[in-house]
Amino acid sequence: MDRAARAEYLQALGIDVWVPRAGIAAGQSVPAVTLHAPAEGAEPAEAAEGTAAHLAPCGPAAGEGLWEALRTEVLRCTRCSLHATRTQGVLGVGNTRAEWMVIGEAPGAEEDRRGEPFVGRAGQLLDAMLRAIGLSRAHNVYIANVLKSRPPNNRDPRPEEVAACLPYLQRQIELVRPRLLLAVGRIAAQNLLGTEESLSRLRGRVHRFGELNTPLVVTYHPAYLLRSPADKRKAWEDLKFARSVFRQLTTGVL
Ligand code: URA
Repeated sequence: MDRAARAEYLQALGIDVWVPRAGIAAGQSVPAVTLHAPAEGAEPAEAAEGTAAHLAPCGPAAGEGLWEALRTEVLRCTRCSLHATRTQGVLGVGNTRAEWMVIGEAPGAEEDRRGEPFVGRAGQLLDAMLRAIGLSRAHNVYIANVLKSRPPNNRDPRPEEVAACLPYLQRQIELVRPRLLLAVGRIAAQNLLGTEESLSRLRGRVHRFGELNTPLVVTYHPAYLLRSPADKRKAWEDLKFARSVFRQLTTGVL
C-alpha cells in the first residue's frame, strides 16, 4: 500500500498521519523480542502484501471438508447455555490460509444475526485498522472470536463458556496455521493467555498461544476505540508493532 492510501486509512481511523522523525528510517526493524512497541514514527515497511497468503486464493482448498465439519459442529453446538439464546453460531470469516488471524471476544447482535464476525460498527473500524497495515478479510486475514455464540446483552463471556468454546478456536488455528495472532480487546487477550493482566501490560509484547506456540500480539478492541477515540493512536502503535513482529517472523529473525 502506498503512503497516500495508508494516509487515507489512517484518516478514516481518526489518526493523525505521522511523519518519521529524523534518525528513524522507514522500514527500521525492532528487536526480536520487544518489550515495548516501537517509537512513534517508526514505520516498518509493508509486511502483509506480496506474501504467499496474500496471494493465495480464498476458494476451495485442501481441508475444505474439515472446515465444513467444523462449521456444522459449531452451528449445532449445545456445549454451553448460550445456544439457547443465540440466533446462530458464528465460526469465522476470511482466508483460511491466511498468515494473520484476528481474534475477538464474541459475536454481537449484528454478528449473531448475520453469522459473520465483526460486521457491525466495530467491524468497520476493525477493517479500517487492518487496511492500514495492508490486511483485509477478503484476502489475507482470517477473523474469529473466542466465543462462537453471542452472550445475551453482550455480557462478558463466562469461564465455562470459554472452556467449552476454546477447542473450536484451537481447531481453527490448527487449520489456518497463521504465523501471527492478533487478539483484539482485553477479554480476548486475557482468555487466550489465561491471565488477568491489564491490556496495557499485555500490549507491546510477543506472547505465545496454544499447542502450536503461535506468536500473539494484543491491541485494543475496536468497540472500545469507538468509545475512546483518543486511544486510537496507541492502537496504531500496536498495529505497527504487530507488523514488525510479522516481518521478523517471515524473515526468520523471530
Ligand atoms: N466484537 C467481537 O469481539 N467480535 C465480533 O465478532 C463483534 C464484536
